[in-house]
Amino acid sequence: MAVSAGLVASFAGVVYARARSMAHGALEEELRFRSTTLAAMLEVLPGGEVEFEVDRGMLPDFEREGAWLTILDERGKAIVLSPNLAGSPLPSPGPWTAGPGEVAEIDGPGGVPAALLTRSIEAAVEGGPPGGAAPRRFQVLVALDARERDRALADLALFLAATGGGAVLLSLGLGILLARSVLGPVHRMTAEAATLTPEDMERRLRPDTVVKELHRLAETLNSALDRLGEAMARQRRFASDASHELRTPVSVLMANAELLLRRPRSEEEYRMGLRRQLKTAGQMRDVAENLLALARADASADGFARDPLLLDEVAAAAAADFAPLAEEGGVRLEVANGRPVPVTGDPVHLHRLVSNLVSNAVKFTPAGGVVSVRASAEDGEATLTVEDTGPGIAKEHLGRIFDRFYRICDARHQAEGAGLGLAIVDGIVRAHGGRIEVESRPGEGSRFRVRMALRGHGDGGEES
Ligand code: ADP
Repeated sequence: MAVSAGLVASFAGVVYARARSMAHGALEEELRFRSTTLAAMLEVLPGGEVEFEVDRGMLPDFEREGAWLTILDERGKAIVLSPNLAGSPLPSPGPWTAGPGEVAEIDGPGGVPAALLTRSIEAAVEGGPPGGAAPRRFQVLVALDARERDRALADLALFLAATGGGAVLLSLGLGILLARSVLGPVHRMTAEAATLTPEDMERRLRPDTVVKELHRLAETLNSALDRLGEAMARQRRFASDASHELRTPVSVLMANAELLLRRPRSEEEYRMGLRRQLKTAGQMRDVAENLLALARADASADGFARDPLLLDEVAAAAAADFAPLAEEGGVRLEVANGRPVPVTGDPVHLHRLVSNLVSNAVKFTPAGGVVSVRASAEDGEATLTVEDTGPGIAKEHLGRIFDRFYRICDARHQAEGAGLGLAIVDGIVRAHGGRIEVESRPGEGSRFRVRMALRGHGDGGEES
């Protein structure tokens, strides 16, 4: 705003200065013309008398021309006065100096503003012997009424101030209108967004209250709110499931302890009771550890190491942990030996990922079945496959088994897990920028397949 006002002011200033110098110049030219013609009429006779070769009617007339004339001799005596001066000469000039003369702004006779030119001239003595009498010196003073010029300049100044001020005010008004029309909807949206609270996650910004250009912003904010709302709902569900999951074994622990203490028992009974307590406490520890793993995977991928690893080695080591369990259950555990599969990732978390998949496969596969674990590099991707010949997973459950605390009701295995294993697998896969798929045929078996970037193929790692 200040910039546009400054521009307008300097433009008006330039225009006025130019017009002023032109007006003053025109008046000065007129003064010079007059003084030259009037000076030419001055004659010094051989006797020394001065003759002004005009009759009084030719002297400047203020009524008609707005002009005054005074001619002074070397003693400063007025020898010619225009009649309109009524006997009093124009203001007395400085000493005689040769040259074109100076123009001054004065208060002329009767207080009329005037421009005054004072010129010093020499006039030769008429008909005198050459080299005889020295020329005589005079000062010619011509003044012109400057009111019209000053009025025109004042009008111009007024016009410039009015139009300039108008332009500034107009641009100010337009600027305010524009800012209002753009910022108004933003303010409304801001005010609306400020009233949103976590308790009120259903409410959304109304795009119809804002101008078209801001629709996208409102929609983007709304979709961010949708995601936030979903995340908060998931967190709430997670917290309530987690507390339920931990409360159940605590209740079992307390009930067992109360039962044991109800009456005196034999040492053997106490031992059995303590063993049960130990088992329940072990389950609680597992749940707590799993919750911690999930929270870490949730926090962000930042907490994950980015080490160069061989996925086939991680898979073989994790599967080997389950060899005794598989043998105990009469399940054949096969680990395929193939080419090295270089990836970038967190060794501990990837070990846990393979363990959870193999643990489920061994747990759910009945005696005589097979569990096979294989890591391979295909189409620039690292793939880990864990396949079993277990009971399979019905279609209606397939979409939900990666949800936290989701378990398929099965009398045989119900007590063994909290439904967190696959949720953890999913979190780790995502943190590695990968994805997981499951295929299953009830009665025939299941196949879990994890895909992630091969090292040197778009994972930011280096080719090994
Ligand atoms: P949990 O830790 O309780 O095993 P998961 O999240 O690992 O929970 O698995 C969720 C559910 O998916 C399990 O309750 C089980 O019913 C089913 N499931 C997982 N893996 C298999 C598998 N290999 N074969 C059959 N069912 C499986």
